[in-house]
Amino acid sequence: MMLKDSVAIVTGSGRGIGRAIALELAAAGVKVVVNYAGRSDKAEETLELIRGAGGEGVVVQADVSQQTDVDRLVRTTLEQFGRIDILVNNAGITRDTLLLRMKEDDWDAVMATNLKGVFLCTKAVSKGMLKQRSGVIVNISSVVGLSGNAGQANYAAAKAGIIGFTKSIAKEFASRGIRVNAVAPGYISTDMTGTLSEGTQNDILRAIPLGRIGNPDDIAKVVRFLVSPEASYITGQTLSVDGGMEM
Ligand code: NAP
Repeated sequence: MMLKDSVAIVTGSGRGIGRAIALELAAAGVKVVVNYAGRSDKAEETLELIRGAGGEGVVVQADVSQQTDVDRLVRTTLEQFGRIDILVNNAGITRDTLLLRMKEDDWDAVMATNLKGVFLCTKAVSKGMLKQRSGVIVNISSVVGLSGNAGQANYAAAKAGIIGFTKSIAKEFASRGIRVNAVAPGYISTDMTGTLSEGTQNDILRAIPLGRIGNPDDIAKVVRFLVSPEASYITGQTLSVDGGMEM
């Protein structure tokens, strides 16, 4: 599958890593569906950046944790572009706190967006991909899903769940020409991490062998590789993009 003129849904691509992925894919000639949950201003900005660079895309609001929203996201994409070649399950949230303070709602909210959302979106696109016998799915996990992290039991569980889900679906779909991989970013500078205290950010920096905090483009370039024909023999893998943080 060549990237040019293929069609991608990138969940949570109004801001942060998702936006960088959307721009990177659009620059490679992919028609991109920019999905967001609530910040329509940010999603429209992403679309403007895509169009400004000569790319093609649309914005679709949909909460990935809701079946009806996901069905509408996929239906709108098919109405607009006629097919879906690439799904990047990027949408994610944090509700960080130590276990003893973690409320059931903190657990449920993170599971719903970060793990159930991946299940719903993957299932929704898979029907068309199985029929066309091609497709690529990339799930955004986290270094925390591999190593765990105090104060992030809900988030780490969801991100580790993504890795098991990725391997299972890679096995289910391999014979049908569909590849499924995960990317495990380390510490990337976005709104999600911007709220951490300077002290915490410095502690994290000290734990990164390459000595710098990542930026969304570091992840986007790897996603572009994974969805490209150059990665046609790679499936079921979790690629750490973390400056060496997890090793
Ligand atoms: P971010 O800047 O907070 O952006 C999150 C994006 O997800 C936003 O576009 C948001 O939409 C969207 N979103 C949230 N809940 C959603 C839902 N229910 N349905 C649809 N979209 C939803 O986060 P980020 O740092 O770019 O993170 C992107 C992904 O990378 C996440 O899965 C995160 O867990 C993962 N990750 C991040 C880091 C890091 O250091 N930043 C490290 C490892 C993994 P709105 O704009 O509408 O709110």
